[in-house]
Amino acid sequence: MERVYNFSAGPSMMPVEILQQAQQDLVCYPGAGCSVMEMSHRSAPFEAIIAEAEASLRRLMRIPDDYAVLFLQGGASMQFSAVPMNLARQGQTLDYAVTGQFAGKALTEGERWGKAVAVTSSKADTFSHIPKITADMLDPDAAYLHITGNNTIFGTSYNTLPETGAIPLVADWSSAILGREIDVAAHALIYAGAQKNMGPAGLTVVILRRELLEREVDPVVPAMLRYKLMADNGSMYNTPPCFSIYMAGLMFQWVEKMGGVAAMEKRNREKAALLYDFIGRSAMFHNPVAVEDRSIMNVTFTLPTPEDTKAFLQMAEGRGMINLKGHRSVGGCRASIYNGMPTEGVEALVACMKDYEMGLRK
Ligand SMILES: *Cc1c(COP(=O)(O)O)cnc(C)c1O
Repeated sequence: MERVYNFSAGPSMMPVEILQQAQQDLVCYPGAGCSVMEMSHRSAPFEAIIAEAEASLRRLMRIPDDYAVLFLQGGASMQFSAVPMNLARQGQTLDYAVTGQFAGKALTEGERWGKAVAVTSSKADTFSHIPKITADMLDPDAAYLHITGNNTIFGTSYNTLPETGAIPLVADWSSAILGREIDVAAHALIYAGAQKNMGPAGLTVVILRRELLEREVDPVVPAMLRYKLMADNGSMYNTPPCFSIYMAGLMFQWVEKMGGVAAMEKRNREKAALLYDFIGRSAMFHNPVAVEDRSIMNVTFTLPTPEDTKAFLQMAEGRGMINLKGHRSVGGCRASIYNGMPTEGVEALVACMKDYEMGLRK
């Protein structure tokens, strides 16, 4: 069977050369005599793997020295809980910008811990834009403002960061990290699941200002959710997701080889433009998102009828393009075009859309 172009929102495509590298090292990792999957996380080869992965990510994102990098489990969803538990007192005000489904889930977890407030929401407009936030909208006592940097389901993104004044900015960048440049120093904390732009599922990266580690944490907070404990143990308080860290390390090396995040962003912008430009000219395909808030990672589009959507998805699948169906909550179509998606995949998709519109239906 041939490899397909996988437009899944996550887990998503990885470059073949990385999969081949993993295949080559799978049974016997050089110098270890065993697979990374069998290796002790306390062994010298694994210590080198995790140290190099962190160093590479620090170079790629230009992470300042006063930020800690944590390699954790539990997905981005676990961070919806860990963030309030580490950064806020129980009952403290927590500000959230509700710009999509994951933002809403983050707010819900915040409500379990503090007085979580939706300072703004685009729900009434089916999350088709990013509402502006200004410092005067925020509670001066809020522990942080939480944003979802890139809204995976709705295809919107913060193309400029909100001004938060003295309030720390926390951002879920799961679906855009390493796909575009992110100013780490403008954030107090960034978190992201790996399975979109950084490798396989099972790993979540947290990048936070070290001074936040000194905040007093409520005794009820479980050990596994404590950032300081994880930082003090080099992300190895318990067994880390070793194989996912190894794979993410290979992805980081690949992004460095490709020229870094700026080069990735350039390529991703070009890929997204192929789609947005075609949709802009098309009488059949439509993008429901405010132009200035468009995501370059997740491109949503609709066809005139549910029958058209179904027929188009079938035609695309017949041409080796899968997972183009929109999220079950919104319908339509969505092309997730992360770092692992080659330009040729997007070109093949645009050709398929053109043919469908012209009446060629296979
Ligand atoms: C995928 C995603 C999540 C959920 O990630 P898990 O790793 O499945 O918990 C959260 N936020 C955003 C923006 C996402 O894209």
